[in-house]
Amino acid sequence: MGNALVWLRDDLRLEDNPALTAAVEHAEASGGHVIITYILDDASPGIRPLGGATKWWLHHSLTNLHGRIRRLEGTLILRRGAAFDHMRELIRDTMADAVFWNRRYGGAERALDADIKAYASAAGLQTHSFQANLLFEPWTIRTGSGTPYTVFTPFWKSCLGRPEPVRQPLSAPSTLHGLTDDAPRSDALETWELLPTNPDWSLGLALRWRPGELTAHEKLSHFIETRLHRYATGRDFPGENNTSELSPHLRFGEISPFQIFHAIDAIPAAARTSGGDDLTEGIRRFRAEVGWREFSYHLLFHWPDLARRNFDSRFDNFTWSDPRDGRLARWHEGTTGVPLIDAGMRELWQTGYMHNRVRMVTASFLVKNLLIDWRLGEEWFWDTLVDADAANNAASWQWVAGCGADAAPYFRVFNPMLQAEKFDPDNRYRHRYLGAYESDPTYPPPLIDLGDSRTNALAAFAEVSGKSKIVRPPVSLIP
Ligand SMILES: Cc1cc2nc3c(=O)[nH]c(=O)nc-3n(C[C@H](O)[C@H](O)[C@H](O)COP(=O)(O)OP(=O)(O)OC[C@H]3O[C@@H](n4cnc5c(N)ncnc54)[C@H](O)[C@@H]3O)c2cc1C
Repeated sequence: MGNALVWLRDDLRLEDNPALTAAVEHAEASGGHVIITYILDDASPGIRPLGGATKWWLHHSLTNLHGRIRRLEGTLILRRGAAFDHMRELIRDTMADAVFWNRRYGGAERALDADIKAYASAAGLQTHSFQANLLFEPWTIRTGSGTPYTVFTPFWKSCLGRPEPVRQPLSAPSTLHGLTDDAPRSDALETWELLPTNPDWSLGLALRWRPGELTAHEKLSHFIETRLHRYATGRDFPGENNTSELSPHLRFGEISPFQIFHAIDAIPAAARTSGGDDLTEGIRRFRAEVGWREFSYHLLFHWPDLARRNFDSRFDNFTWSDPRDGRLARWHEGTTGVPLIDAGMRELWQTGYMHNRVRMVTASFLVKNLLIDWRLGEEWFWDTLVDADAANNAASWQWVAGCGADAAPYFRVFNPMLQAEKFDPDNRYRHRYLGAYESDPTYPPPLIDLGDSRTNALAAFAEVSGKSKIVRPPVSLIP
């Protein structure tokens, strides 16, 4: 009898989960059981602890998954601490003869997986790892000279030009062959204290989100039916609901990119014809955004320090301004006196999400107008976003800062006033998150002069990028 141990990580789903499917097949072939584990690893070196908003998501996602696993007569073991120690213990206590997991791509995570694989193999177990969360494994996409890509457009072209089709998603196993007795000990999820208390700031998250695999699929269907045709033109307008809002579901692997691509491919020909060019363009753009996620992971795989080190090392010499003078706190709070920035930061704080256009503008404001190190912004997003993602967050921050791969050039400084005029013309978004505050006498004047700080930033960034030797004008702070 061979038991199968499945280690879930960023793949909290039953459908299209190759590791789970293979483990079930293994148990069926050998008459054994399947033991599923999730380890909240906040102890292994280099593994970045979750932020507050992702902890909230994880709690609800695991609650949801646990219920579904139980209904399929499965066993889920929850553990917290160093994954190596727990896996060693579980390998011993479950009498497993094979271990299954879906791959992850961060440097510390891969090192840990390699250690566990070596341990399990030495203990005589089979180990099986699978491609589950990326359409294109980062090491398979290479430039003509064999190097990783650093520019999105040729990267994505190369991905789409691959001869092999994107594989079909797998269905969920119909039964999970859990242990009937003698299961190894499992933590009670509540003891992990992932939900905020004192204060409980999660009401806005609960009103906006419903973590879990089924919701992810409902959202995808709803998006395809009602939003995809206007995605290409509407995705930049934060006051309208034109995007999929799938990012936290993708972050936790409640849905896979394979399922997304196949759901789009399954749009009936008649619907495509009646959707016309708008739908065709919506599909192209949406697939490309999922492609940006692939690209971010490609970068993370090849540059594991993406969240800490400037991709472009010329920026290592940049002198960031001191964040302790209160300006970073005002950015956090959404009291900068610049309405689009404040609305965005309040959306983030209240709901754990911020529209992509506003993420770009608030990030640009922090880095380019306030000259605050992009890593401090990345950390705040890491803590407050429900979709905080090791690859997407770091790559996007570097992109906005101008030091990333395929970066927005350093001279692109988003003007939040013009961005608001263009993308929130009816004030709907700003009003939603600022309400009467914007016209209240207590609403502060702008923290900084947008024109002067832009000039200042251009000079400073031109200096590091070696393009000119413009002397930096003094920062003009408006109190
Ligand atoms: C400063 C900054 C920080 C960001 N941090 C994150 C983050 O931590 N996690 C995260 O998932 N996204 C991040 N993004 C990318 C993007 O803003 C979000 O993915 C998007 O807003 C999520 O909304 P959606 O699911 O409705 O997106 P849609 O427009 O419906 O796109 C579908 C999916 O494609 C992916 N995607 C879309 N845009 C991007 C992008 N620019 N880069 C990479 N993947 C993308 C996401 O997985 C998204 O769910 C960040 C962007 C910026 C500018």
